[in-house]
Amino acid sequence: MPQLVFATSNAHKTEEVAAILGEGWQVEDLRAHPGVTLDEETGDTFEANAIIKAVSGSRGVPGLLVLADDSGLEVDALEGAPGVRSARYAGETANAADNRAKLKAELGKLPQTTPFTGRFRCCMVLARDGEVLHITHGSVEGCLLTEEVGAGGFGYDALFIPDGFMETFGVLPSETKNELSHRARALAAMKEQLASLA
Ligand code: IMP
Repeated sequence: MPQLVFATSNAHKTEEVAAILGEGWQVEDLRAHPGVTLDEETGDTFEANAIIKAVSGSRGVPGLLVLADDSGLEVDALEGAPGVRSARYAGETANAADNRAKLKAELGKLPQTTPFTGRFRCCMVLARDGEVLHITHGSVEGCLLTEEVGAGGFGYDALFIPDGFMETFGVLPSETKNELSHRARALAAMKEQLASLA
């Protein structure tokens, strides 16, 4: 079975990628490669940061295919924040609960006449031996709540209702999220390239 190293230590993301790719791939992440270090995410776009992760990660596992994603939430009423700072919105050492609290606080300061629209975005980069092989993008539009609903998923999932649904990603089954999420769409666009390299 072809092997794919996903350049993250976020078990939730790895679970999603493994489920979306299905049985045909052996997906490992950096928990299986503890010696691999990723360069600092100094880019100001999802693509720049995904390239940094994929290139630096692939140098640590010579010959192996490495996939990296950089993703985050954009809220229109906050001029696109938290954006590329999604993982560190409430500070450098913030966890997901801190980041959700900060988002709720920021939204709470705004008058709400219409739903707070926004989207999750994801850029995926495939690399090997320090060389970028392919880049894809995916996004999912939706609305933000000011109170969390649901305990599923991770990150901002409990605050985000994708367009066409009545429930947050924290409530919807993982199968549903994995059909329409930003990550699913970026990965779908990557599948042909992956198949040609398998
Ligand atoms: P990254 O690991 O640098 O790509 O940071 C991504 C951050 O964006 C995560 O820590 C989450 O806060 C947020 N994020 C990305 N994808 C999702 C998702 O599918 N659900 C909820 N939050 C997400």
